[in-house]
Amino acid sequence: MGISPVVVFSDTDSDAPHTRAGDQAAAIGPSYLNIDRIVDAARRTSADAIHPGYGFLAENADFADACERAGMVFIGPPPNVIRMMGLKTGGREIAASAGVPVVPAYDPASRDMLFPVLVKASAGGGGRGMRIVWESSELAEALDSARRETERAFGDGSLLIERYIEDARHVEFQIFGDSHGNLIHLFERDCSVQRRHQKVIEETPSPALDDDLRRRMGEAAVAIGRAMGYTNAGTVEFLLAPSGEFYFIEVNTRIQVEHPVTELVTGLDLVRLQIDIAEGKQVPKNPRSIGHAIEARLNAEDPANNFLPSTGTIHRWRPPENVRVDTALRDGVEIGVHYDPLLAKIISYGMDRDTALRKLVYALRSTCVLGVTTNRQYLIQILESREFQEGRAHTSFLPAPRVEDDDVAIAAAVLYLDRTRKTPFPNYRNNPYRDPWIKLRVRNEETTVSWKHLADNLYEVRCGARTHACRVHTRVNASPGQITLETNGIIQTYEIAQSADQIFVHSPRADTTIQRLPRHPRPASASQHETANSPMPGQVLRILVHEGQKVKTGDSLVVLEAMKMEQTIRTTINGRVQSVLVKTGQVVAPGQMLVEIGAEENEP
Ligand code: ADP
Ligand code: ADP
Ligand code: MG
Repeated sequence: MGISPVVVFSDTDSDAPHTRAGDQAAAIGPSYLNIDRIVDAARRTSADAIHPGYGFLAENADFADACERAGMVFIGPPPNVIRMMGLKTGGREIAASAGVPVVPAYDPASRDMLFPVLVKASAGGGGRGMRIVWESSELAEALDSARRETERAFGDGSLLIERYIEDARHVEFQIFGDSHGNLIHLFERDCSVQRRHQKVIEETPSPALDDDLRRRMGEAAVAIGRAMGYTNAGTVEFLLAPSGEFYFIEVNTRIQVEHPVTELVTGLDLVRLQIDIAEGKQVPKNPRSIGHAIEARLNAEDPANNFLPSTGTIHRWRPPENVRVDTALRDGVEIGVHYDPLLAKIISYGMDRDTALRKLVYALRSTCVLGVTTNRQYLIQILESREFQEGRAHTSFLPAPRVEDDDVAIAAAVLYLDRTRKTPFPNYRNNPYRDPWIKLRVRNEETTVSWKHLADNLYEVRCGARTHACRVHTRVNASPGQITLETNGIIQTYEIAQSADQIFVHSPRADTTIQRLPRHPRPASASQHETANSPMPGQVLRILVHEGQKVKTGDSLVVLEAMKMEQTIRTTINGRVQSVLVKTGQVVAPGQMLVEIGAEENEP
């Protein structure tokens, strides 16, 4: 477009990939939420327009106002529209005035409320503060706790009670308006696969719509846009009930995380379109949707451990081929606690749904991320589920995460260590009567693994009570960081990365994080003492221990929350809690001491 972009970066992001992506980069201090610093950075670099992205200030009307006051173009809808849509009640009023059905809402004093209901924050977003209430006796308490949470999160505790639409699908329409009075929609996205009301997989077209329903919902979305004088990009969200009735829920006044699926089927670049419109151009005429696109959000989180976010250094990142990948990942990137856990968006395209679906599953199988736990395996599980395959997923559909058997991955790791180590394992040569062995922890289970070298490349690996015969194929040494094993007649290559006492193993089917444990744990000395500190700025969500309580290495102490994620702080020693230094709800700074633990002697 001939535009020379300037990017902004926070103190911790001076080396981040996005910082290098612009022609210039401007420092804005510790936070991406500081309006004055961002406007000032724009002024200093003579920028004439600001694109707010899809997080942070993207839906902040004060920011849009500040841009206008500074004589810069805010690439988005007018500030008054952002302000009106910032509250879900505002959107509901507009939708109702445009004759579009909205989810029935209730007054808390109402006697004829139909349960279940959903309590939600009017100023909310990201699924926060939502409570499903199944019967009237639970309502008062749900309102109380939702109000507390939303006041904290959004500085505005006003709540909305809606009828809870069971087994609904989330179907949203992308709209675009220009300054010449044209307003169009660019078809729908089905975002029914959600966890805690947050999108996980998105696709277009929706398998739930036929042409007639698509036409009616599209017209409703356009009518809502027109009723508020919408310009630039926006999303009108609906719930589609199993009965076929649809209800408006809210408008998002920004480009969305899932916009690539729309780009793939329409062939339009939506961000370019946003800039065109901000420059006074018109929306495209007669947009068409061809083929099918599906997006999966690859997150740094552990589905098998209640989806706890995970942090660490990316040792290896190999994106899949033949699909679109939107990411800032690369080897060596630190996945910290400051932002949400989205690592990459992987988006496939095919002429029909089945082709796009197969392509996405294949892409996820070949995606390699070593260094943090991800939901890769779980995404594959969802995409392969019968419900998803048949296009029947609704917003409360989510399979229980399947846990794969790790034995062969463990065998791959120990044989890799054995073959790549310059010095042999202790006990290996100097004790011919004992097989080499190490102690490992995989998820929460400790195992002792030993192995015996039988012949050339043949080993017997014992994981706990189970024994596996493994042949190492010599192409191993061809590529560092890989080992090829044959077990039970199957040859498979594993990717391996090591960092301190952790070993990460990737196979197309699963990823395994292995923790090496000391062979003979040293008894803790009486003076040993640990403080658990906060790794991030955040808020104390839950305290799980009390003073005097005995704890074992790995036990959870405190749950913190920052951005949209929770982080569990665990003890790294065995001992007894000496003091708890924070309270629930307290805001903590990075490095702040949370819990003190005194080591106890003679702990196992
Ligand atoms: P969407 O509705 O576009 O799919 P989400 O529901 O995941 O996005 O996002 C909820 C909120 O979090 C939004 O306010 C969005 O702006 C913000 N957000 C989402 N992803 C990111 C990100 N990667 N970085 C910063 N903010 C984000
Ligand atoms: P957010 O601002 O967090 O995106 P939304 O109102 O868009 O809030 O709702 C997010 C998700 O919560 C929806 O996609 C849907 O799964 C669920 N949801 C919201 N309202 C209802 C409702 N009335 N009945 C059933 N599910 C709902
Ligand atoms: Mg929403």
